[in-house]
Amino acid sequence: MHRKKQIVYISHCILNQNAVIREWERAQGAFNNIIRVLLEDNISIIQLPCPEFTFLGENRPPKTKEEYDIPTYRSLCSQLTIQVVNQIKEYIINDYEILGLIGIQGSPSCEASGEKGIFMEELMKLIKEENIDLNIFDIPEEYIEEQSQEVIDAFKSYIRKIL
Ligand code: SF4
Repeated sequence: MHRKKQIVYISHCILNQNAVIREWERAQGAFNNIIRVLLEDNISIIQLPCPEFTFLGENRPPKTKEEYDIPTYRSLCSQLTIQVVNQIKEYIINDYEILGLIGIQGSPSCEASGEKGIFMEELMKLIKEENIDLNIFDIPEEYIEEQSQEVIDAFKSYIRKIL
């Protein structure tokens, strides 16, 4: 067997909707149809931690980015990203391709493009310091499992582009 050495980092809740705010889940478990696109191309998936769950637990209220933007939360996000970036560096040194980073549009923590969430801001800061370039895709706010074929098509195009 030979390994393909292609990896995508994804926001935690793409694989585990149990981590989102109660009643805000958009799938019963994972975003299966998004994950399936990656699996079909034998792309390995690394699940980022859920910073909000880590900070406030499962039964947390919805909060804005401004409400989350306090030193203790930034510091937690910053700590969580150190391990992630060390791992990315280790893969790159050993000739793995980090194909991309998949975030969650509209999340005060995990939006990776546009108005970045706090966790992604901290992650990007470290990634930039290491001169690492990542292709970014955010799962749109309107995505609901089994009801969003347009998003799946857009995601497939993104994957074709970065492969
Ligand atoms: S968007 Fe980020 S903080 Fe929100 S549930 Fe998903 S992983 Fe957790």
